[in-house]
Amino acid sequence: MRARIASAAQQFGRDPGSVSLLAVSKTWPAAPIAELAAAGQRAFGENHVQEALDKIRALAALDLEWHFIGPLQANKTRPVAENFAWVHSVDRLRIAERLSLQRPTSLPPLSVCIQVNVSGETTKSGVSAADAPALARSVAALPRLRLRGLMAIPAPTDDFAGQRRAFRCLRELLERLTADGLSVDTLSMGMSDDLEAAIAEGSTLVRVGTAIFGERY
Ligand SMILES: *Cc1c(COP(=O)(O)O)cnc(C)c1O
Repeated sequence: MRARIASAAQQFGRDPGSVSLLAVSKTWPAAPIAELAAAGQRAFGENHVQEALDKIRALAALDLEWHFIGPLQANKTRPVAENFAWVHSVDRLRIAERLSLQRPTSLPPLSVCIQVNVSGETTKSGVSAADAPALARSVAALPRLRLRGLMAIPAPTDDFAGQRRAFRCLRELLERLTADGLSVDTLSMGMSDDLEAAIAEGSTLVRVGTAIFGERY
């Protein structure tokens, strides 16, 4: 997977070291995660709180970095604030406020990305591009969170130019946040089927499940 990322980076004139890999381990048990960790992978993504907590406990000795990437309900924010390093899927202020309140002071601030719905109605999660800058400003002001950037899951398409268009929209939004004075460094975009287009448009973190672990069952 690093080779595929490096080759895409080279093709689009980017430093391969500027694209980090989040291994999306949702639905997979602890054993294959431990195997990948032994091969040097540190960051893992999960989208269900309970399933993730079981694995985080089972693998606690490995010092892994856990990223929450799924829809987050208000009644599940506490275990996420207490057990994860990142949340990629913040799409409303109420969730961000709870995460900030519940983040233990013994841990560094929780890194968060705002999830943006760049494809209009096709997906339900994510704030609209129009509302993203205001939400970003509010989230950046919360004391126990560190706003890192933006995340998107565009509607799937086989058309490379179409994939790039959606990712470009997210990159331009991030540039706007920077112009507004926010200090952000992360474009969380690109999955198994579209990571080349995401890297072409400036992705700094690709979230890859199937292409690493195989088809989910
Ligand atoms: C499942 C998932 C991924 C990984 O998708 P693949 O197509 O298996 O690479 C990435 N991001 C999010 C938010 C996911 O839920």
